[in-house]
Amino acid sequence: MTKVVFFTDIQKLHKVLALFSIQSFEGKKVPLKLHMGEKKNPYFVKPELVKCIVDELKKADADPFLFDTTVAYQGARHTKKEYLKLANLHGFTMKNVGCDVVIDDSGFSTVIEGRTYEVAEHLKNSSYIFALSHVKGHIQSGMGGAIKNFGMGGVTKETKIKIHQGSRPMYEKDRCTYCGVCAEVCPFEAIDVEKNTWTYDKGECFGCGLCVDNCKTNALQHRDADMQFLLACSAKACVQGKNVLYLNELKRIAKGCDCDPNAEPIICPDIGYLVSDDPVAIDKASLDLINKVKENVFEKINKVNPLKQIKYGEEIGLGSSSYQLIRL
Ligand code: SF4
Ligand code: SF4
Repeated sequence: MTKVVFFTDIQKLHKVLALFSIQSFEGKKVPLKLHMGEKKNPYFVKPELVKCIVDELKKADADPFLFDTTVAYQGARHTKKEYLKLANLHGFTMKNVGCDVVIDDSGFSTVIEGRTYEVAEHLKNSSYIFALSHVKGHIQSGMGGAIKNFGMGGVTKETKIKIHQGSRPMYEKDRCTYCGVCAEVCPFEAIDVEKNTWTYDKGECFGCGLCVDNCKTNALQHRDADMQFLLACSAKACVQGKNVLYLNELKRIAKGCDCDPNAEPIICPDIGYLVSDDPVAIDKASLDLINKVKENVFEKINKVNPLKQIKYGEEIGLGSSSYQLIRL
């Protein structure tokens, strides 16, 4: 069964990583995939934790660099130059973390389950990767962890847009009862239902798929597929065939993701850290630990079941949701 190690004292990191053969990273250039935070978001992973991981990779004689990709929306991470500036502002400097920061804006095609995903160049070209994922809520996928770190964060802008657009609604008038539920659940007020009229503003839609999930008559369908399915496939495109170690940080667990300048409030107390070599197992263990402290908190707060990305991940062979939790 897949091993997931839980610990609360970061001083134990060396011991934990030894359980996952960190020594095999020796001599390799290793992207440390992480999200360095949107402007004004206070919850992203901190340079102090990143430095601990960089130090461990260096002890294993690996050559790490911090790595992320540009985002599709206009903001402080839209271009490489802007993202590098923000990373610096957030404390991800050579002086603080002990290695360079690399941001990608281009990628290579990989086909998973019949769809093409553009995997960021530095991930595609690396056989060894370390993934540091901050576990928190997410308005579109309920929760963001290791699967989302790659599924959205490991691919190019074009693929990010495709994933968002793929889960937008398609409307079938004959099935609609004008109950108004889709309009009520839409976080972006992109749908309006009045008497016998259903209207949709594509410009306001962020492709979260909530309206589709909540339509009882199937009058709404995803244009392509459920976003959480596309995320799992995209993550598989990034990591398949590679040696990847995953560390999930279960701290500062906010309602919204690190892309959101208004991610508050904190919805669960700090729990600790998990390490595994399986992205599905580590996200399932993260969700299970959080649910033990605050039952179904992501689903209650974000109205999206985050288990779907884990189930889809298992179905497409990204990893296993069965795991053995080892407490250190
Ligand atoms: S939830 Fe479905 S049935 Fe109800 S108004 Fe929206 S599209 Fe129509
Ligand atoms: S996909 Fe999300 S944002 Fe778009 S209309 Fe549906 S609920 Fe609103």
